[in-house]
Amino acid sequence: MTEPRERQTREGGQNFDYLIVGAGFAGSVLAERLANAGKRVLIVDRRPHIAGNAYDCYDDAGVLIHPYGPHIFHTNSKDVFDYLSQFTEWRPYQHRVLASVDGQLLPIPINLDTVNRLYGLNLTAFQVEDFFASVAEKVEAVRTSEDVVVGKVGRDLYNKFFRGYTRKQWGLDPSELDASVTARVPTRTNRDDRYFADTYQAMPLHGYTRMFQNMLASPNISVMLNTDYRDIVDVIPHGHLIYTGPVDAFFGYCYGKLPYRSLEFKHETHDTEQLLPVGTVNYPNDYAYTRVSEFKHITGQRHHRTSVVYEFPRAEGDPYYPVPRPENAELYKRYEALARERENVTFVGRLATYRYYNMDQVVAQSLATFRKLQGEKE
Ligand code: FAD
Ligand code: UDP
Repeated sequence: MTEPRERQTREGGQNFDYLIVGAGFAGSVLAERLANAGKRVLIVDRRPHIAGNAYDCYDDAGVLIHPYGPHIFHTNSKDVFDYLSQFTEWRPYQHRVLASVDGQLLPIPINLDTVNRLYGLNLTAFQVEDFFASVAEKVEAVRTSEDVVVGKVGRDLYNKFFRGYTRKQWGLDPSELDASVTARVPTRTNRDDRYFADTYQAMPLHGYTRMFQNMLASPNISVMLNTDYRDIVDVIPHGHLIYTGPVDAFFGYCYGKLPYRSLEFKHETHDTEQLLPVGTVNYPNDYAYTRVSEFKHITGQRHHRTSVVYEFPRAEGDPYYPVPRPENAELYKRYEALARERENVTFVGRLATYRYYNMDQVVAQSLATFRKLQGEKE
């Protein structure tokens, strides 16, 4: 990698204040903010489309699908929700997930109904608290993804709902993963069966791609697709570089590869209006896939056919998930130190900062990065 050069003028060449690598949430939010502040921006993505992993499109049957797996928007941040609301209207949507366990489809996150139906009990919300307390294991310090779950709901529920799913999804036992991974899924003593409890839960009314098109509509933004930035970085004059791809790739894997977990998506269309009772069904203990999701639940589209996606975890392939565990955090720190030395480059997003971020967290990180870039200018 050569250092991005100072802005220079070339006959017939274009001057861009910023070259942004990646047109997902991280890159597109920064492109929009910078263009809005009067900067000229070139955003490149090696994929044939904008929107990164949030990309959606119509499949051959005319059903709106998410090719990179189901993306449900949820946030507690009014700032993030208000910011995105400039580019889309919303359709309120609260995601529900059932887990296939012991021959039943049971609510996950584990709640009062999960426990009653699994064990044939009739506990109240108060009684289920005592139940959890009676089965929970004593964990001195919660460090791993196993600790989180067995410390709250005990070994049996852990084995039935978390152990198999996590081993499939990550290729690791929960005891080998940071607590933060399974801590994403809460435990409830009431009957709330929503997957998320955030203040704002909604889907872009006309889809994510349309929202991204609106974000990138400024005449100050040029979009270049099917392009690896390495093929143009030395050719197209630009000022600052913003990089949202994998951080280890940027530095030529000089300290070795950062582990990312990948997925293979199997998409299917069925000649029926509805296949699943809810948006997603998880399979913690059966099959090679972790979950199946039906898009029409999520998008609200009406159609006489329906499309679903199965997620098969993979060690190789596109980098989708940073793998939260101590040795990976250590390795990332070494790359982060290199990144800090690059004054002409800003690293932002899930892959460039090696963080298991949801979409709203990436938007918040990008808005903060914009404020920092502006601050540095002043
Ligand atoms: P990305 O969307 O990955 O964008 C990075 C872009 O950089 C990519 O388009 C890539 O092609 C491009 N790029 C990389 N290297 C280069 C290069 N050398 N040259 C040019 N371009 C390059 N979040 C939620 O909030 N809710 C959900 O329900 C949800 N579901 C998810 C389901 C799955 C299966 C996965 C994998 C993620 C899910 N997420 C969800 C997380 C969400 O996808 C991310 O938070 C978000 O997309 C990250 O945005 P980003 O811009 O950081 O990265
Ligand atoms: N998880 C599990 N069983 C489930 C759901 C989740 O064991 O039924 C664990 C698993 O390790 C998963 C993590 O909790 O990777 C986070 O789940 P989430 O649904 O947030 O994963 P994502 O949507 O990010 O893939």
